[in-house]
Amino acid sequence: MLEKFFLHQKQYSQKIRAEGLDFRIDALNELEKAIEAHRTEIIEALKKDFQKPEAETLLSEIYPVLKEIKFTKKHLSQWSKAKKVHTPLTLFGSKSYIQPVARGVCLLIGPWNYPFQLCMLPLVSAIAAGNCAIVKPSELTRHTSSVIKKILTGTFVSDHVFVAEGGVETTQELLKLPFDHIFFTGSTRVGKIVMEAAAKNLTSVTLELGGKSPTIVDATANINEAAQKIAWAKFINAGQTCVAPDYLFVHESIHHAFKKRLIAAIEDFYGKSPELRKNSPDFARMVTFNHARRLKDLIDDAVSKNAKIVFGGLSTPDEHFCEPTLLENVDPHSLIMQEEIFGPILPVMTFKEISEVIHFINEREKPLALYCYTNSQMNMERIQYETSSGGLVFNDSVIHFVNPYLPFGGVNHSGLGSYHGEHGFRAFSHEKAVLKQSFFGKLLRIMYPPYTPIKMTALKNLIRFRL
Ligand code: NAD
Repeated sequence: MLEKFFLHQKQYSQKIRAEGLDFRIDALNELEKAIEAHRTEIIEALKKDFQKPEAETLLSEIYPVLKEIKFTKKHLSQWSKAKKVHTPLTLFGSKSYIQPVARGVCLLIGPWNYPFQLCMLPLVSAIAAGNCAIVKPSELTRHTSSVIKKILTGTFVSDHVFVAEGGVETTQELLKLPFDHIFFTGSTRVGKIVMEAAAKNLTSVTLELGGKSPTIVDATANINEAAQKIAWAKFINAGQTCVAPDYLFVHESIHHAFKKRLIAAIEDFYGKSPELRKNSPDFARMVTFNHARRLKDLIDDAVSKNAKIVFGGLSTPDEHFCEPTLLENVDPHSLIMQEEIFGPILPVMTFKEISEVIHFINEREKPLALYCYTNSQMNMERIQYETSSGGLVFNDSVIHFVNPYLPFGGVNHSGLGSYHGEHGFRAFSHEKAVLKQSFFGKLLRIMYPPYTPIKMTALKNLIRFRL
């Protein structure tokens, strides 16, 4: 069944290769109009899926997609041009170019945590690069999945863009097909399954995965600002953000002052009592009972290993609720420090020397993002050069996601490849090497057999002078 759509797209992808850029721009215009027209439905769907506040849907689901479309339309003609490159003396007279060409038919697999944005952003890049796409939204956010289906079915012929709704079996069926590229956003665990399946067809992949994003607050930081920024980045979407601060390292000299401000920031955002926070319209829910249950288990496990709940701690999985929670004295061997938290729980640890933190980070899998609040030039440089992470932000969190000039992606366990802006266009393009030979090419006959003594001398000179 899904194979039928794939085969139709295969044919159509040949057809649209010959189309000019206008075809792609028209497609982006249509997508933009359709998103605008369904704005209310998108907001309602996310409310139904996990009580996502309207402001957060506007800010983190709709705005980034509309902005990406605008940015892409503005720069597409420049990105798509063949780029002339130098030609060495040995190929004298010829001309060389790099021509981005569409990969063909792409599979886009989305997660549930930003279920609209993370299907649509890669789709913008896929369309801009001239591809056909099958989009597989997450089954856990079924209302958003239906709106995505409605928008894309009403905007594109299925030969161009098709939405395959369904659960894990649907993804597994899709993964058997020989796509030209797979763009997967989701967990590291499933990322490995996707890469293994892709390898069977030698399909290229972009993997946007997760992981633990450490956040450092050193003694020189502006702790008022740091507390507010961290509270926002950690608890937006109820902590279900791939680049949310996962755990904190705070310098011991400012630890108490910082904790006070962090608690004040959380209370300002969501209310001063557990009851108010539970009823806050600005705080989302966990997507399923199981996700909420997992978070409760993480807290219980940490507490059983002597962690102290210093703020929050209320967790009612039946209502898919977990309160913003701060933990201290967390054992690095507890589950919460082993797996990505992906919820509103923040372990806070202290440090004396920045080297301890660098060592801690480097001993673990490379994070998707790393945040450092500091005014120390030396600490900035040490973090920048001595650690590896997908992204690095000084004196803020999460916002690098919004800059379309920066590549967004992970490294090793947190991902392979990147996207946004031109980086997204490139992820969905093959960079074709093009060389145009001229009549000077005849000189190269010196390479053809028979290898006479004269030719051998010429060849030796070629090596000698590295021409
Ligand atoms: P997930 O890996 O469970 O699911 C993602 C997709 O994979 C879904 O569409 C699902 O249907 C499919 N899937 C699930 N199990 C599968 C299997 N066994 N075989 C084939 N397909 C399968 O991820 P999730 O829970 O939806 O999202 C949360 C994760 O995604 C977190 O780890 C988070 O950090 C990560 N994430 C990363 C980014 C990023 O940009 N790097 C963004 C958002 C989320």
